[in-house]
Amino acid sequence: MIIDLRSDTLTQPTLGMREAMMQAPMGDDVFGEDPTVRRLEDRLALLFGKEAGLFCPSGTMTNQIAIRVHTRPQTEVICHRDSHIYLYEGGGIMANSHASVKLLEGPFGKIDPQSVAEAINPDDDHAPESVLVSLENTMNKGGGSVYTLEEVRPIRKLCRDRGLKLHLDGARIFNALEETKDSPDAWGEQFDTVSVCLSKGLGCPVGSVLVGSKDAIKQARKIRKAMGGGMRQAGMLAAAGLYALDHHVARLAEDHRRAQGVLRALEDHPFFLEVLPVKTNIVIARLRGIKPEEMLARLSESQIKAVKFGKDLIRFVTHLDFTDEMLEQFTRRLGKMRG
Ligand SMILES: *Cc1c(COP(=O)(O)O)cnc(C)c1O
Repeated sequence: MIIDLRSDTLTQPTLGMREAMMQAPMGDDVFGEDPTVRRLEDRLALLFGKEAGLFCPSGTMTNQIAIRVHTRPQTEVICHRDSHIYLYEGGGIMANSHASVKLLEGPFGKIDPQSVAEAINPDDDHAPESVLVSLENTMNKGGGSVYTLEEVRPIRKLCRDRGLKLHLDGARIFNALEETKDSPDAWGEQFDTVSVCLSKGLGCPVGSVLVGSKDAIKQARKIRKAMGGGMRQAGMLAAAGLYALDHHVARLAEDHRRAQGVLRALEDHPFFLEVLPVKTNIVIARLRGIKPEEMLARLSESQIKAVKFGKDLIRFVTHLDFTDEMLEQFTRRLGKMRG
């Protein structure tokens, strides 16, 4: 049995999801005529207390479109140095928006209002104008760390007072909400736009939705077209999203419980020096006396897959296709791997 913990994007659509996809009413969404895409966009917008939504092929696209909506060339985005928008989107901030980036530090991938305040440029011809702050929740590189509303509210207030927009990369926002028990609209209220991924913990084959004001989404739709992200009978994919919202949100608690199990298997293990605090479904472990490549090869011999996540780090992510039986096997196989 192969235990694949490389990412929560690796899940196979469930039978129920496939059936929902097969039954979906469809139309040409570029003509605005796909009823299932509309239902998904409206449902997520409503859930997050926003006016409108836009279905896109990927979370990279929803983030990049949001950045483009909120910036102009020569302006600046403020985010944590470990943000997905900076590290893993192919330099898109520069390529798509011709904007600059200011990178902040902070424990577990999180930034605080004081460092944001200090990062806002003065009104000066030398400096790019600071126009956007972007947060990530949960924070992938921070080990699936979670922001609380109390931490976000002062950042929101600061952005309002200083005229900056605030975007949320909510690729795993439902994992965060599972832990904080906040309602999605309480989070929507704090941000101008929120990107939500369906293809991570929610287990869909494809898709992300951007939610925001009517104006922002109208502009976003034009940008999506220019990026080549307008899809035709996309209702089949949107149906997977609707199915996931019905069936795969509450079960995220299981992924978090199993991540604690993964943590226990790594604790006190001779190959692992420490594990970052495990808050959701991501487990980042620091190796001791063995290189990531070597450790991944050892794991691979035991039919366990993970990814390198830094010079001495590897990452495990729990997901819909990682069962209790696999966790038991994982623990057993790691237990044998000690010399
Ligand atoms: C996966 C991910 C995205 C979007 O990635 P795509 O593969 O383009 O859908 C965005 N932000 C974070 C934090 C992610 O983990």
